[in-house]
Amino acid sequence: MQLRDLTIASIHTALLKKEYSAVELITQVLKHIKEKDTEYGGYLHVMNDDALKCAQEIDVTIAQNDDLPLLGGVPFALKDNILAVNHPATAGSKILKDYIASYDATVTKRLKSAGAVIMGKTNMDEFAMGSSGENSAFFPAKNPHDISRVPGGSSSGSAVAVTLGEAVCALGSETGGSVRQPASFCGLVGLKPTYGAVSRYGLIAMASSLDQIAPFARTTMDAALAFEVISGHDPLDGTSKKDFKFHAKQVNDFSLDSLRELTIGLPKEYFIPGIIKETQKEIDNSIAVLKSLKMKFKEISLPHTEYALSCYYIIMPAEVSSNLARFDGIRYGTRGESALLGEMYQRNRGEGFGKEPKRRVLLGNYVLSAGYYDAYYLQAQKVRSLITTDFINAFRNVDVILTPTTPTQAFKFGEKTKDPVSMYLSDIFTVPVNLAGLPALSFPSRSLCNLEGKLPVGVQLIGKHFDEATLLGVSKWYEKTIVESC
Ligand code: GLN
Repeated sequence: MQLRDLTIASIHTALLKKEYSAVELITQVLKHIKEKDTEYGGYLHVMNDDALKCAQEIDVTIAQNDDLPLLGGVPFALKDNILAVNHPATAGSKILKDYIASYDATVTKRLKSAGAVIMGKTNMDEFAMGSSGENSAFFPAKNPHDISRVPGGSSSGSAVAVTLGEAVCALGSETGGSVRQPASFCGLVGLKPTYGAVSRYGLIAMASSLDQIAPFARTTMDAALAFEVISGHDPLDGTSKKDFKFHAKQVNDFSLDSLRELTIGLPKEYFIPGIIKETQKEIDNSIAVLKSLKMKFKEISLPHTEYALSCYYIIMPAEVSSNLARFDGIRYGTRGESALLGEMYQRNRGEGFGKEPKRRVLLGNYVLSAGYYDAYYLQAQKVRSLITTDFINAFRNVDVILTPTTPTQAFKFGEKTKDPVSMYLSDIFTVPVNLAGLPALSFPSRSLCNLEGKLPVGVQLIGKHFDEATLLGVSKWYEKTIVESC
């Protein structure tokens, strides 16, 4: 069994044909994690006993000839800011190192009822703040394609686990690109759903108006199946959309004719000199592949793109400063001893948070403070609507927008840690999507068989609100074409 080649469908068939049992599969994945993970740092916590127990239950279902749900026995991983009852949820931070979740996030609950086996909690940048995994308070995860490079972030460990075959799919979280960017650096499919498509209940919040839970997979169909299970209305999240339900069948049924009816927009503001040569070449090749499938292309303009990053770095920290207030050692977080209350707050937060959360809490309080609120926060909200309007206008003429996911490939450890702004710039193409609440997907320009020792490059597709099916449909046909040329 090649763990890296497993898909949801192949596991389903093999389990039903009794080629292996769920216990055999999960035992092998656990062994693989034990052998590999110390080197790559994908997991912060592995759920050995619970995973095996769950596999045993799946085997009982199979033995009784009961219906095996499609996700039955499939190994999944969860980013460590998504709650799984009775297991740690550190959000990559020292302040939560002793926290044990007292309930399941809605996505966790849905995965469990679909029969998925949760293998563990994955490494991440502290409170999902970062683009490289280097802000994890514990240890950095490493890129399986080149161990001297970062896997991307902040969902670093989820990307590493899926790339190595330590899970078939994993959930991460997106606030400004934290699933698409690592998917791009690791050669995976990463789907950022429309804001409101997936419940945020049980996700440790970073910036609530931007956050969405998002799946990683090695194939488009697996990303679609994972999205099918986690999406849909949840009364426990007031921002969850009432009448939306995605079905993976929509992607299965997406025909070549439907593909040919689509027009893809290429926004001129995203094809800039800052993109490195290798990335530009891969994007050009991908456009050529889609043209060979007879897709139509059109140049478009998203005129407010240049303000997106500045706008994000005002709105996001403002929300961070409020969301992180609860980690004070009294309501949540590790508590130190101190005679005075003020000192205790200072100590708990001062020692518990790393540099990046502190930087953002300070920035957030500043932009929200009296006298600066109008100049920064309110202004940024106005810019946010201009950015959203740009997309709405563009979607009058095109069905999907194509851009590079990131301006560079995976960078080396330490390359951007000294200059936070250079790190922030790696999100320049992903952040506008979160501001506008749109769905977007990153797919690899090449399949593994054609990587020829190169680093992966991600192609980003941006869609209309709640039109994930079209993005996955385009990605499905692209993947089929490049896999066939292997
Ligand atoms: N890298 C971005 C940041 O640090 C995005 C984070 C995210 O999407 N969680 O804010």
